[in-house]
Amino acid sequence: MALGSCACFGGVNQLKNRFENLDWVKRQVYGKHPIDTAPVKALEEVVNVDLRIYGCPIKKEEVEKIVLHIALGKSVVIPKYPVCMECKANENICLFDIGELCLGPVTRAGCDSWCPSNNAGCWGCRGPAEDANVKHMKEIMKEKGFSEKSIIERLDCFGGFAHFPELKKKGKRK
Ligand code: SF4
Ligand code: SF4
Repeated sequence: MALGSCACFGGVNQLKNRFENLDWVKRQVYGKHPIDTAPVKALEEVVNVDLRIYGCPIKKEEVEKIVLHIALGKSVVIPKYPVCMECKANENICLFDIGELCLGPVTRAGCDSWCPSNNAGCWGCRGPAEDANVKHMKEIMKEKGFSEKSIIERLDCFGGFAHFPELKKKGKRK
């Protein structure tokens, strides 16, 4: 079982994989006292994974429900739809309308729109929703005045969108 974004797709730790030179990364992070480090892998790259529980952090209520369903022998259902669905159900004002970037349209729901419900844009910690249209979302964000850099930085953060062409073509940094 992959528990949390780091186990599911590397989480914030996978940001170092974007750099060719891990020695440079170690110096930036640890200064004169570097420690050994290796590229980050998702759990499923090492062992078979039967279940992914997304989130950074994971949502307590979702984990409780999953454990209960497993104990009762019921199937576990992880939402495939995006955070926007929960956000609308919670009757939030869309943050786009007040100039805040938000990855809700492409991110997997299940957190009950935690960040937008607290006036913060989604950073995509639960990874992509099924059929997430990142290309189209980027176009809309650009129309709304957000820079390519700010969009990519946000998509990059937790690693869930790493396989999308919009991020892949960016390539490695120095
Ligand atoms: S605030 Fe974010 S999650 Fe909520 S409706 Fe707008 S884009 Fe979707
Ligand atoms: S709103 Fe986005 S970043 Fe916030 S907890 Fe939910 S999926 Fe994660």
